[in-house]
Amino acid sequence: MIFWGCMFSGKTTELQNVKNRFQHAGMNVMLLNPRRNTRDSDLVRSHDGQTAEAVQFGSKDELLTYVDRSKPDVVLIEEAQFVSYIREVCDELYDRKIHVFMAALNETFEGNPWPCIRDILHTCEVHQTWAVCRDCSSMRACHSGCIADTAPDDDGFLPGGESEYKALCTKCFGTHLEKSNHSNVQNTDT
Ligand SMILES: [Zn+2]
Repeated sequence: MIFWGCMFSGKTTELQNVKNRFQHAGMNVMLLNPRRNTRDSDLVRSHDGQTAEAVQFGSKDELLTYVDRSKPDVVLIEEAQFVSYIREVCDELYDRKIHVFMAALNETFEGNPWPCIRDILHTCEVHQTWAVCRDCSSMRACHSGCIADTAPDDDGFLPGGESEYKALCTKCFGTHLEKSNHSNVQNTDT
């Protein structure tokens, strides 16, 4: 299953609820966090402040080494959009009869799909998470708008983390992108 949505839509909270449910049943649960996610070093923190210890990994082989050592019943993967080889990871975990739950951003700050996530959606049970639009309070916000002064890197992220973004509905995201494009043109002209 994949929890799939924009920033501030509660993906990490959903993942932590899954973790709590399986642990309550006495199952071995492993929380994994790609090293690319610099929000916290060894912790996964949801926007409501809950934290959980996570195992960091930087490659498929490293991840599988940890998994084969701990032999979990359930694997939870945070920020799966940063794991370019996520499809191969899922295949390896399914072969081992491990339950897999992931949290991933649905799109980049420009509104484009993450290629690695697009490639696995048809193989997953997708649970779309929604946020509240910061501009109009619509409860169907599914876009992450960048509000920072500087441009994000190729992955669409900034050192300031989530404070550099806001959740937006489709209508407000369109307006936001128009303004961003307009200011970029102005910057180019000057
Ligand atoms: Zn809106």
